[in-house]
Amino acid sequence: MLLDLSQNEIEEYVVSLGFPKFRGGQVYDAIIQGKLLDETNLPRDLKSAMEEDYPHFEIVKKLVSKDGTIKYAFKMFDGEIIESVFMQYKYGNTLCVSTQVGCRMGCKFCASGLHGLKRNLSAGEILSQIVMANRDNGGNAKERKITNVVLMGSGEPLDNYDNVTKFFKLLEEKRGLLISQRNISLSTCGIVPNIKKLADDGFQVTLTISLHAPNDTIRKRTMPIANKYSMAEILDACKYYFNKTGRRVAIEYTLIKDVNDSEECAKELAEKLRGFSVHVNVIPLNYVKERDLKQPNSKDAYVFAGKLEKLGISATVRRTLGSDIGGACGQLRNSLMEGEV
Ligand code: SAH
Repeated sequence: MLLDLSQNEIEEYVVSLGFPKFRGGQVYDAIIQGKLLDETNLPRDLKSAMEEDYPHFEIVKKLVSKDGTIKYAFKMFDGEIIESVFMQYKYGNTLCVSTQVGCRMGCKFCASGLHGLKRNLSAGEILSQIVMANRDNGGNAKERKITNVVLMGSGEPLDNYDNVTKFFKLLEEKRGLLISQRNISLSTCGIVPNIKKLADDGFQVTLTISLHAPNDTIRKRTMPIANKYSMAEILDACKYYFNKTGRRVAIEYTLIKDVNDSEECAKELAEKLRGFSVHVNVIPLNYVKERDLKQPNSKDAYVFAGKLEKLGISATVRRTLGSDIGGACGQLRNSLMEGEV
């Protein structure tokens, strides 16, 4: 798929088809703007030569929330559907992208892993979500409508390391969408070796850890990955990442009634995080119909964040956007498999 390639590689590809190199630049520009092959004014014989390889851009569903958040369902070349969420903030627009079709982490509160992992997305397929949402919101390669990206859709980004990091590089292409790593947040349930690898490989993205518990016993109740990596190992890896990159790590804490919302939980979490340069995002559990965990009351997340703050840990409540369209944290799913598109 041509979206997986850099501009240079697309030029080489076009030359290999027997066309001049400058046509490759034109193909690259068309792709990055999300143009369909028919919408380009490339020579007809080049178009037919590229037919198999040119990206398939297709929005199959678009839902707009009352808060302005937009959830997209995109169709991939093999018919798989993935979801992305476009959110508007004061500082710019953020796209929440998926990195896998499904997920194999099996967290008990999340809809994305209900049917396990279907497949990894390629770097180009992750990029295509930005290309399509940018175009749909009136953007192009010069005037970008997306300034920030969060890898917080379906999938575990560090379970698809090579494609995800290649995607970071594609975003930095000279004539590309130019979203720098500082404007990208990667969220992980804590795949320890790959957190360290990310730092060793010189990446600079904001690392976000889905912690959701103050200790391993509670964590194991909702997150199977906790059986593989302990919280101590995860926090060590965060320290390593911070020391290598200088980037402050963020912690996500989805608040689940009667599981991790007690006063003791706040205290224990604050103790564990003391001395770290971290910020905690408290997220009230969003509704997922197949899961029977309880949502906290509306004030509880503020109370919990307030307790952390009092204990000296920087914490805020993440505003829930798009929950009326199934677009909030943990609500993205493979809707094709579930017959919802
Ligand atoms: N697999 C990665 C990326 C997913 S990000 C990770 O685990 O970080 C999605 C975020 O939403 C994660 O922090 C996830 O734990 C959280 N989440 C999942 N289900 C949720 C739900 N029902 N309510 C609120 N947050 C949820």
